[in-house]
Amino acid sequence: MTEKGVFQKIIDGEIPATKVYEDDDFIAIKDIAPKAPVHLLVIPKIPSPRLDEMLDAQGAGDIGALFEAAIKTARANGLTDYRLVVNVGAGAGQEVFHTHVHIMAGWDEAAPLG
Ligand code: AMP
Repeated sequence: MTEKGVFQKIIDGEIPATKVYEDDDFIAIKDIAPKAPVHLLVIPKIPSPRLDEMLDAQGAGDIGALFEAAIKTARANGLTDYRLVVNVGAGAGQEVFHTHVHIMAGWDEAAPLG
């Protein structure tokens, strides 16, 4: 059996995290090593390794629900302007292979991408 990943352990209450949103299907937590003044992670409770595999296994409706949860998390945390980022694959910087959306916010002025 493959070892349980860090986000599954957080979902299962086995390791601590600062929860900022939760519903039946998603949790959102503060990133432990923030790369923006506000850095949250929105994590589906049904695990899939990467966003493209989530699409194949679960369909576009669940991807829409993930982004709906990200917007609800942003609103619940008083954010109006933010970045939603998904790293898909190690070559794009993905380190935790349990699909998640980064919410990044809080700059005075965000630098353009690129
Ligand atoms: P990614 O590189 O897209 O896979 O993003 C993984 C994110 O998870 C990184 O920003 C990490 O800082 C964050 N992270 C890893 N372990 C934890 C943890 N135990 N609690 C909160 N965030 C974590």
